[in-house]
Amino acid sequence: MKEEKEKMNWKEKIQLNRRAFALWYRECPAVLVSTALYSLVNAVFPYITLFFSAQILNELAGARQKDILVRRVLTLLAVEAVVLLLKAVVFRWKNVLSDGLCIYLYDWKRQFDKLLSMDFCDAEDTRTHELLDAIQQTSQWGAYGMRMVYLQFRDFIEALFQLLGGIALSVSLFRLPVRVDAGWLTMLNHPLCILLLVLLLFGVTVLSPCLETIGTKCWIECDEGFKFGNRMFQFLSRLMSEDKRALDVRLYRQDKFFEQMDAINCSYGIHSKAARYGRGKMGVACAASAAVSRIFIGIVYLFVCLKAWGGAFGVGSVTQYIGAITVLSGGMAKMIEITGNASVNAFYLKRAFSFLDIPNKMYQGSLTVEKRSDKNYEVEFCNVSFRYPGTENDVLKNISLKFKVGERLALVGQNGSGKTTFIKLLCRLYDPTEGEILLNGINIRKYDYQEYMRVFSVVFQDFKLLAFPVGQNVAASVIYDTQKAESCCRKAGVWERIEIMPKGLETMLFRDLSEDGVEISGGEEQKIAIARAMYRDSAFLILDEPTAALDPIAEYEIYTRLNQIVEDRTAIYISHRLSSCRFCDEIIVFHEGSMVQQGSHETLLMQEGGKYSELWNAQAQYYVSDAS
Ligand code: ADP
Repeated sequence: MKEEKEKMNWKEKIQLNRRAFALWYRECPAVLVSTALYSLVNAVFPYITLFFSAQILNELAGARQKDILVRRVLTLLAVEAVVLLLKAVVFRWKNVLSDGLCIYLYDWKRQFDKLLSMDFCDAEDTRTHELLDAIQQTSQWGAYGMRMVYLQFRDFIEALFQLLGGIALSVSLFRLPVRVDAGWLTMLNHPLCILLLVLLLFGVTVLSPCLETIGTKCWIECDEGFKFGNRMFQFLSRLMSEDKRALDVRLYRQDKFFEQMDAINCSYGIHSKAARYGRGKMGVACAASAAVSRIFIGIVYLFVCLKAWGGAFGVGSVTQYIGAITVLSGGMAKMIEITGNASVNAFYLKRAFSFLDIPNKMYQGSLTVEKRSDKNYEVEFCNVSFRYPGTENDVLKNISLKFKVGERLALVGQNGSGKTTFIKLLCRLYDPTEGEILLNGINIRKYDYQEYMRVFSVVFQDFKLLAFPVGQNVAASVIYDTQKAESCCRKAGVWERIEIMPKGLETMLFRDLSEDGVEISGGEEQKIAIARAMYRDSAFLILDEPTAALDPIAEYEIYTRLNQIVEDRTAIYISHRLSSCRFCDEIIVFHEGSMVQQGSHETLLMQEGGKYSELWNAQAQYYVSDAS
């Protein structure tokens, strides 16, 4: 990251900021319009008060004509009322569309969509997750990255109108001359004096934000140091809220880890780098920045008061000019700060885009998958080999296999033999390194991916149910067919449990989002996940260790229901427990990435010295010794 920081030029920084702004505008134009309007009204409002109250004060200190005074007061009140009303309306509009949370959501959704749409190998890659972690951390602790562009835009519009309003209201300060009989004060009319003052004001206005930027840079330098602290913090907050970990946390006081690790790493606290900077360079720069801006205000007061004393304008205008120049200078300072921030932020934008720009390298087909009510889809693996990206060895070697429609197929083999990888290839999470996979005779790469995936229902070993109603979980949708959901739950053997829940299918699962939510056992969760796979109504049902979380009785129950669950689908099971594979028509034995045996349970058992009988005997032995 450091190298990138040194290399980036202004052109690239501007391009990155422009691209980020265009992205925001494409995603949420209404948010930007409402924000711009709010910033405009916010910037202009102080000037309206300044202008009209100066008029009133001038009249009070001058001719004191009653009707003019009344007219000016009424105008001030009317204009203020209208602007305040407008401000309130725009404020609400902006807040509804773009309060902090919404902006967070846009940010989060952009990242989430990208993660879901990128090639699976990239989504699985730890480097992708490290990159995303880094992006999220800087966004959380300093709003750097995409969120900063939105905040900068808001501030830019405000600063722009502060500048324009300030110039409009303060031009006459330099134009109106001190009276010729005002003695030495007439030197204030000299063009050089005015030029000197303008230069001084400009210098001071630039200096203050520059000092501020030095302070900000110090903060950025602490970025690396915060990384560890933030990760620990995020982990700890998750740790505290996961009830499944509650026992472990209490028993082993895992919260203490955080304190000890932080003491070692010094991310936070008085010994941290940030605290040292605060006491040194960063503190001095920020204090100097504040002092400079106070000095500036003092100079403005002096100049305006001397001109008023010399008779250049009335006492009312003193407030107008002082106010206008102070806001004008604030606007200038903000502009400089925005430029400095945009420059620093460019490095974080580069990081954000390096995530968003991860290319999809897998071929994206467009063929539609023929819809067949008879579920007559034929899948064939032709000489398929596969090696994970960045690794040296094939984890699947020369697999050739044809699934017969409506067949129950079991994949067995020791851990690491390639069973899950086989399913990943079938679901096209990866493309084979060699060979091809065909669906009804056509390479699966040629199909539209979403269409292709509709042919499969998978219950992964580490499936996740959401803290939503049971019915919605089964249908994987907010709107669902109650009868179909019930029927799937019945076939999966979990209906009796759902029936006695307070609201049946409408009962919330878990307590994350509702106090009335019900906690269910691992086995019940697994049955609901099976019901979810059945609801999808696809031609293939893939069950990865379908009974892993079940006790032997529940496991037996599931297997006796297998025919009900699978119906006319083609089913593929992955299981460690060979006893559960006896029910399948065909068993495929994997060993070190190769298919070493294929056949029915009985045929395979008869092949003495084969891998299957070896595994079977090992497990049978285990059960026997376990039972004794
Ligand atoms: P099984 O499901 O039979 O236990 P897997 O298909 O999960 O086996 O794994 C097969 C081999 O591939 C193992 O050696 C495993 O370490 C390796 N492997 C699995 N996933 C990845 C991955 N994402 N990157 C690199 N190697 C992997």
